Amino acid sequence: CNSTASVQTDVTAADATGYRGHDMLAPFTAGWQTTDAKPLVIEKSEGSYVYDTNGKKYLDSLAGLWCTALGGSEQRLVDAATKQLNTLPFYHSFWNRTTKPSLELATELLETFTANKMSKAFFTNSGSEANDTQVKLVWYYNNALGRPKKKKFIARSKSYHGSTLIAASLSGLPALHQKFDLPAPFVLHTDCPHYWRYHLPGETEEDFSTRLATNLENLILKEGPETIAAFIAEPVMGAGGVIPPPTTYFEKIQAVVKKYDILFIADEVICAFGRLGTMFGCDKYNIKPDLVSIAKALSSAYMPIGAVLVNPEVSDVIYSQSNKLGSFSHGFTYSGHPVSCAVALETLKIYKERNIVERVQSISPRFQEGVKAFSDSPIIGEIRGTGLILGTEFTDNKSPTDPFPAEWGIGAYFGAQCEKHGMLVRVAGDNIMMSPPFIFTPQQVEELISIYGKALMATEERVKELKSQ
Ligand code: PMP
Repeated sequence: CNSTASVQTDVTAADATGYRGHDMLAPFTAGWQTTDAKPLVIEKSEGSYVYDTNGKKYLDSLAGLWCTALGGSEQRLVDAATKQLNTLPFYHSFWNRTTKPSLELATELLETFTANKMSKAFFTNSGSEANDTQVKLVWYYNNALGRPKKKKFIARSKSYHGSTLIAASLSGLPALHQKFDLPAPFVLHTDCPHYWRYHLPGETEEDFSTRLATNLENLILKEGPETIAAFIAEPVMGAGGVIPPPTTYFEKIQAVVKKYDILFIADEVICAFGRLGTMFGCDKYNIKPDLVSIAKALSSAYMPIGAVLVNPEVSDVIYSQSNKLGSFSHGFTYSGHPVSCAVALETLKIYKERNIVERVQSISPRFQEGVKAFSDSPIIGEIRGTGLILGTEFTDNKSPTDPFPAEWGIGAYFGAQCEKHGMLVRVAGDNIMMSPPFIFTPQQVEELISIYGKALMATEERVKELKSQ
């Protein structure tokens, strides 16, 4: 996607805005972007819109990074943060000391998650830390049970679980592994459940799910069930390209995991709190996890916070073991940060008061149908999604096996067209992703569809042009 970039040599010059974008080693950004095109500097937000430093307004179709569920100007969250900052800006939760907002948030989360019984919440600052914590909890648990060999994790190709060493290892995206000496050897990857891309000729969705469950079972048997500790999955895969599960997939996968006494971890970092039109992704797909990771919409991104929810079986073992050892020696300075917890509490209150799940249910059909109506485009392979999450994959001949040449930068071109027309989307190669704020209005859904349509027309023209050269 860097085909149009020309590298600028003077990396020390400030741009017209006075910023030297190059001073920052930007996350998930190619070097050329910080040396050539100036970064898009976002300066303020207003509901579901953000503005750049030139005052240009964009519809934020990705809700920041799948996270600003209540948009960018929710005064109640600002007030909740301010009140907590004025009362107690910080105190930690180590050594049997803690704060009121963290205790209250733990209780609220355990009551909100109803897909399976959870008995403890552990706080982190991010989704990556939540997934790192999952690995440590599971290892601690198996060590306490005298099962030191039961340590391997199974994740899925194309999954995204974060970018710390362990979370990046769990992720199934090659870019997160290459040049980083990852994945760590205890992580195994099984099939990505993407029916359109990977089904065999004549195979139904259900047969596809059966085959994937059999492959998972074969992997477990090959490695030895006594070595497999946990399986981790996003209910709908997000950053890997928005991939909802095929029919009966989770039912079949859960049966295999249960059979071999393997813990099921639901990575709900994107799916939780209404994104799919249910409170949690687990509710939608009837997943009964042992452990859950959450972050992002937990605070509508106004403050960094993540959490791990732990079922009674695992937490009882951890508690009894840590009592013996004198402590459960894991935690972050900011685990349960009172300002983050106060903001998260207010966020959850707003979700309830405004019936956010029903709201997503009411606006998502038009969002899904309106965008999926473009599926016939000759340059679109597949548009997929559910609730307020959608992915578009550009391919030639509408085939999963005919990608456009990478140097054509088709996804990047579409993204740039959206930007030109006033909308920000997520581009990953020829995959486009959108996950609007839960507060999107019907008019904003129409605006999104209209800009998508304009960008698509321009991209179709671009493909024609490139093909004729
Ligand atoms: N899990 C999932 C499913 C995610 O989508 C993400 C972030 N996009 C993470 C974990 C990592 O979260 P963070 O960036 O807050 O570390």
